[in-house]
Amino acid sequence: MKELNNLYTLRVFEDRDPYRVLIRTILSQRTKDANTDKATNQLFSKYKDIHEVADAPIEDIEKLVKSAGFFRVKANRIKEVSHIILDYYGGIVPNNMKELLELPGVGRKTANCVLVFAFQEPAIPVDTHVHRIPNRWGIVNTKTPEKTEEELMKIVPKNLWIEMNDLIVQFGQTICRPINPLCDQCPISDLCEYYHS
Ligand code: SF4
Repeated sequence: MKELNNLYTLRVFEDRDPYRVLIRTILSQRTKDANTDKATNQLFSKYKDIHEVADAPIEDIEKLVKSAGFFRVKANRIKEVSHIILDYYGGIVPNNMKELLELPGVGRKTANCVLVFAFQEPAIPVDTHVHRIPNRWGIVNTKTPEKTEEELMKIVPKNLWIEMNDLIVQFGQTICRPINPLCDQCPISDLCEYYHS
């Protein structure tokens, strides 16, 4: 894991406890890291584990996670997911895609985040950067993150999935930005279909 510890996304997920990774990922949907961090820290400062969260009043959870946006929906999902994990999985977050996807509010990206950041399983959590950039390069031609994940899994060796994903996210935050990408500073512009189009 020494190599993985250098990765940006794993620094974001410093806490590898599967339940906290899952809840943090649910809170991160459609918001920025700073908002997610604030909401996650506030929630787990007050409620230490899945039992305490499951028993907590919903209004209190809503207040604690407000900074993450869509706080009512997210608070509900957190409660629901916590109860399901307690009732059906003995309080242990599942470590496989099939069971993770059965949890409410958990799509492939969230499930992949849990697999990578909690269980260190090879997977590709496709966010907006990981969907956009391979399409700009022209190595995939996809309309949805799910399809991008499927295509990347075919062309990238499994042992590089986690590192590749992390590098693309960093690249998207700094150079290949969603709007006004810094193509004149890009070290791989020669290889990029978008650049030559
Ligand atoms: Fe992104 Fe521009 Fe580089 Fe292509 S040339 S990868 S669009 S920054």
